[in-house]
Parts: sequence; C-alpha cells; structure tokens
Amino acid sequence: MNVLLMGPPGAGKGTQADLIKDRYPIPHISTGDMFREAVSTGTELGKEAKKYMDSGKLVPDEVTIGIVQERLAQDDCKEGFLLDGFPRTVKQAEALDQVLAKLGKKVEAAINITVPEDILYERMSGRISCKDCKTVYHLKFNPPAKAGICDKCGGELIQRSDDQGDTVKRRLEVYAEQTNPLIEYYEKQGVLNDIDGNRDSQAVFADIVKVMESL
Ligand SMILES: [Zn+2]
Repeated sequence: MNVLLMGPPGAGKGTQADLIKDRYPIPHISTGDMFREAVSTGTELGKEAKKYMDSGKLVPDEVTIGIVQERLAQDDCKEGFLLDGFPRTVKQAEALDQVLAKLGKKVEAAINITVPEDILYERMSGRISCKDCKTVYHLKFNPPAKAGICDKCGGELIQRSDDQGDTVKRRLEVYAEQTNPLIEYYEKQGVLNDIDGNRDSQAVFADIVKVMESL
C-alpha cells in the first residue's frame, strides 16, 4: 500500500491520517516528522536541511527528495507507506516517481480529500484555541461552554493569525494554485481517488478504506 494523502487545510486530513494509521500497519510519514527525524539523527542530508531551516530558508528540492528517499528505503516501509504533505509540486511528484522506481515501487493511490472552499473557509476561520493548553474549539461547531474561556483549563481563547479570515483565504488560494497541477498529474496516472470530505469523519474514512482495500 503505497499511498499519498492530499487535501487542503481544514479538510480533516489529520483525523483521517490517524484513522488510517490505527487500521493499517504502514507508517504515516509527514514531511515535518521526516525532517525532524533526519535532523535529529544527524544524517548528511539532515545536516544539510538544518542549515537551510536555521537560516529561515526553504529546503531545496534535491535535499527534500534525498530525505524522502532515505525514509522510504527504511524497513518499516516494506509493506507500504502513507505519505502526507509530500509531494507539493509536479516537480516533486516526478522526483518521487524516480525514487520509488529505484526501490521497485510506485504510487498506488493518491487519496485527495475534497471540500468546497466556502465550507473550508467556515471551518478554518471559526477556529479558536486556548492560549495555555492549546485545545482547539470552533465558534460554531465546537464552542466552549463559556465564551472566550477554555473548558479544560480556564485559559483565554484566542484566534491564531493562521485562522484569521484574510489569511485563511490566502492559504486556500495558495493551496489550490500549487495543488491543482499535482491533482492532474495523478489523474493522468490513473491513481487519483477524490474523496468527499464534506461529511462526518467516519463516512469519509469508510470511503478511504474502500480505496485501501482495492490495492
Ligand atoms: Zn486550556
């Protein structure tokens, strides 16, 4: 099961990744975790990546792809993997195909969780979180018992800058611009599976299971 998990911010990708991880014996590989691991174990590429990250620069594709290659070559990926947050561009997707070909593998399914943009906007721009314990609430879908106050610790609830209206709009635009060509790329390969993410998480997961079982 060599699977990619795709979806815009607010689509519930994290929830689905957790459900998949609980059900299938394949590692969930997120780009962030992969970088942290390479840096902490101090591989050559990890050191290289750290130089860029420390200076606030974007890690170049060659380095990122090298790190992906190292990670996918590890033993726990023998039965497959769930790659989350990579690739982000067609160029990276092509490089990933080359890496996988060297390992005698290929992408079997790209699971793309889709949610209409206005719904994403509503989900994301209503998020508030506790300043102290970081618990996340939603003004409409999951409000605290007392406005502005955390149910768990009594801390103050704030809206992170990432979740403010204009920023949300921009994040969604950037995502669509970057990802649409990638979606086309996997569609052409015949591995794209659009999953309607505008339902409760168990219904979404049931469709993902269908895709996984078909591999
Ligand atoms: Zn709290």
